Amino acid sequence: MVEIRKPIPVGEALARLMAHAPAPRAETVALMDSFGRVLAEPVAARHDVPPFHRAPYDGYAIRSADSAAAGGDRRAFFRVVGRIGAGEAWTGELGPGEAVRIMTGAPLPPGADAVVMLEQAVDDGDGRGFAVRKTFRPWENVSLQGEDARAGEVLIEDGHVIHPGVVALLATFGYAEVRVARRPVVGVIATGSELLGIGDPPDPGKIRDSNGPMIAAQLSRLGIPCRSYGIAKDDLDLGLELIRRALGETDCVITTGGVSVGDFDRLPAVYERLGARVLFNKVAMRPGSVTTAAVLDGKLLFGLSGNPSACYVGFEVIARPVLLRMAGNRKPYPAHTRAALAEDFPKANPFTRFVRAVYGHDGHRPVVAPAGFDKSNAVSSIARSNALMVLPGGTRDFRKGTEVDVLLPWAEAGEAAWRIRES
Ligand code: AMP
Ligand code: MG
Repeated sequence: MVEIRKPIPVGEALARLMAHAPAPRAETVALMDSFGRVLAEPVAARHDVPPFHRAPYDGYAIRSADSAAAGGDRRAFFRVVGRIGAGEAWTGELGPGEAVRIMTGAPLPPGADAVVMLEQAVDDGDGRGFAVRKTFRPWENVSLQGEDARAGEVLIEDGHVIHPGVVALLATFGYAEVRVARRPVVGVIATGSELLGIGDPPDPGKIRDSNGPMIAAQLSRLGIPCRSYGIAKDDLDLGLELIRRALGETDCVITTGGVSVGDFDRLPAVYERLGARVLFNKVAMRPGSVTTAAVLDGKLLFGLSGNPSACYVGFEVIARPVLLRMAGNRKPYPAHTRAALAEDFPKANPFTRFVRAVYGHDGHRPVVAPAGFDKSNAVSSIARSNALMVLPGGTRDFRKGTEVDVLLPWAEAGEAAWRIRES
């Protein structure tokens, strides 16, 4: 008898999973290994940035009051009494009418409160000084201590991904090591008696396992470590044993295949034998409606479809946000936007449809087009896509030009040279 499955909306599936996503532990990594990791603690400024008043330009440090007489035809004259290079500090106090030659990034000498840019200084002829033609306001042309960040200020919350800008911030404050969220290790098992490994010779009735390597790559793209358990035949006992082993050695297990209602779709029986609690076994999405999730002893099991496009979409839409949350990420959901359909899409959408799509710009506006052969068993369209177009359930007959939602977890920049308007 075919089991009746109740489809639940994608949002509900995600909510159920998020409620079971274990919170990550923290670990310490060297700053140079922190790129791509998630902060397990907020970054607070350990000191002011800049740490002292400094010159943003090459020029002369002066006391602004000494320029008060300048303006119109009148000039104020300064005598250069020294020079401060970057990395140096001047200890003497600046006297009336005195200036110090200063380089970008160097601290202002005591008493100085303005910088005359080189191009604002007029040589006075004897080589020992210069004149200015305007009055300088206090702190004109000065980078003020603490203008970028104040000591103690929380600059980045925990749960944020460490991108190169965050690395720069951590380095600014001398974090040689950083507390980051531990990443879950995910076990991957491809199931199906028809599957061949990459190196196996072709065999009648058999196909190569593409989902296993694809999921490994999808995990890599998230920076999540993957442990591959190879291929399991459609055999209850073998499948059970392999999944048990994987559960013992990893934080979460993803299987592909075996979740439909065919005679050899063993996953439902495996879950039952394991004693895993099934969170859902049907999602109102296409492709990937058979996407299943279960939980056992606090560990999540994802059962993705064997059909490559459905497997891909099931991972990106259902597994990805949950895995990112398990990795400590505060913002685990994909970026999305809207774009105009570049061609008609007449198909009916009984469930929310996630079309592997190419997102781009036609010179006037953002556009999106299906990436080709749109069936759940397609592999070529996944390869061509850079986005997922989302069409709501209960709709049909989308016309060219209609605005649709687009998920952009991984969209890349265009092939054409820089085409952004600059002026
Ligand atoms: P299943 O979900 O097991 O019913 O499989 C659905 C379809 O996907 C069948 O045509 C399978 O042969 C194919 N398939 C299953 N697993 C894989 C895999 N790992 N790589 C490529 N195709 C697969
Ligand atoms: Mg199968």
